[in-house]
Amino acid sequence: MKFVIVMLDGLRPDQLDDAVTPNLAELSKIGLRLDRHTSSFPSETRVSSAALATGGHSSAHGIIGNRFLASGRSIDGSSLSALLTLGSERGGVLTATTIGEVLAAHGRAMLTIGSQSQGSFGLSSWGSWQAGAPAFWVHDPSKFSNNAAVRRIASCFPVLPADERPARATIERVVDLFFSFLTKAALPEVSLLWLSEPDITYHMFGLQHPTAREVLHEVDRQFGRILAWWSEKGEREGVQLIAASDHGHAIIGEKVSVLNHLQRSGFKVGYELTPDVDAAITAQRVVNIWVRDREGHLLTEMYHSLSEQPWFGVAFSRKAADGSPLVANTLPLSAVMAEHQRSADLSFVLADCSAANWNAPPDAVYYDGAYPIGVGMHGGLSPHELSSLCILAGNGFKSGVAAAPTSIVDLVPTILSSLRLPLPSTVQGRIIHEALQDRGDGGQYDVEDASVSIASSARRATVFREHYGRRFYLRGAAVTRLAQPKNDRRDANPTQLST
Ligand SMILES: [Zn+2]
Repeated sequence: MKFVIVMLDGLRPDQLDDAVTPNLAELSKIGLRLDRHTSSFPSETRVSSAALATGGHSSAHGIIGNRFLASGRSIDGSSLSALLTLGSERGGVLTATTIGEVLAAHGRAMLTIGSQSQGSFGLSSWGSWQAGAPAFWVHDPSKFSNNAAVRRIASCFPVLPADERPARATIERVVDLFFSFLTKAALPEVSLLWLSEPDITYHMFGLQHPTAREVLHEVDRQFGRILAWWSEKGEREGVQLIAASDHGHAIIGEKVSVLNHLQRSGFKVGYELTPDVDAAITAQRVVNIWVRDREGHLLTEMYHSLSEQPWFGVAFSRKAADGSPLVANTLPLSAVMAEHQRSADLSFVLADCSAANWNAPPDAVYYDGAYPIGVGMHGGLSPHELSSLCILAGNGFKSGVAAAPTSIVDLVPTILSSLRLPLPSTVQGRIIHEALQDRGDGGQYDVEDASVSIASSARRATVFREHYGRRFYLRGAAVTRLAQPKNDRRDANPTQLST
């Protein structure tokens, strides 16, 4: 059995349509569509890359955001050299074992070809390129591989346009390199092809713009080349074809600068923990705050300044020494599988716009960053951002639709177990038994509501979760403002945590 995984960055499953994505529609008729498939949290590409590689959430792999602070310095996860300041190519960057490492340790190969950022590519194929497996990062195939086949094949192709947006030629190259590889070498046990669209175009135009629809059609056409090969040859040779996305997309409805808000409120805040500031933040859809020396009083002051804002969504904090969240009225980071030694002291998602404006479109969200209003964005806990595509096809999988909760972290254990390889102890996902041809499934899913809330006198914050197969699956988040007595602005009432 062999696996070819095609990741379509940012593709929200409700964008599939017979006219725009005929090949993906065809695959979902042939294979098994996972109807409740979600990303990990935060729903950002580098976090997802690590989740896909390790079968774990950020609490296991340690890539807690696209960008985060380590030793007070900002780490931009799109850069391999920045990631390598956390450790080395041999260890310390990821704190969980990857599928690439398992395959290499058992003398199996993994082929990776991708057009995403250098950091995301390195994370998704971690342990594989270090072991000399073929790894083509299309923007510079020499960057990750000393593999002879890669060197020979890559030299036959012209250099791609730099930073192509939309990335039409770039994603075509991923598929070209795959077929070129197949003419020279045998298909390894696992191949991971990562197409950086439609994500780039969604960030430029939103999801409904004609160019976004055109690019999605182009993504589908490139996927169709792989589907045609699989239908003619791959399927007969026992190849399991998986089409998936790493997260969905919401739409930027309103913009906010959390740094400006904190500075206006009198806090000394910057993007790194330099001597002139007391706290550093990273912000996109999730805002992370690291306070010098984890000063609890300052964190509480910041929480109160932030929590009165309409854009303040569900908040989390790391565990204090007594095991409770460091900041009162916040949920523990472990509620979203994001507690790690690299975690921020206080993290919060920016709210849905509908929290403050009933007329806002359902997928409109607040955002802090450079993209304009109206375009696609992800990273938070809204169902639109979490919702991800996953279609499994081949003689190892059933066909139809599976309604059991699944997530990106379930792919590694499912693939490794199908290959009869051991699961690393750091895997947090589960084997998707409902999808496997040789397992019984009555179609009954014993899914429990495991939503978790925290309420103060002013607000109730909820993370919607499901418990299934001894795992938690994230479904969304919401904040409700409660009637607030004028003389009780500082949450004097005891905090309630309910599950
Ligand atoms: Zn992505």
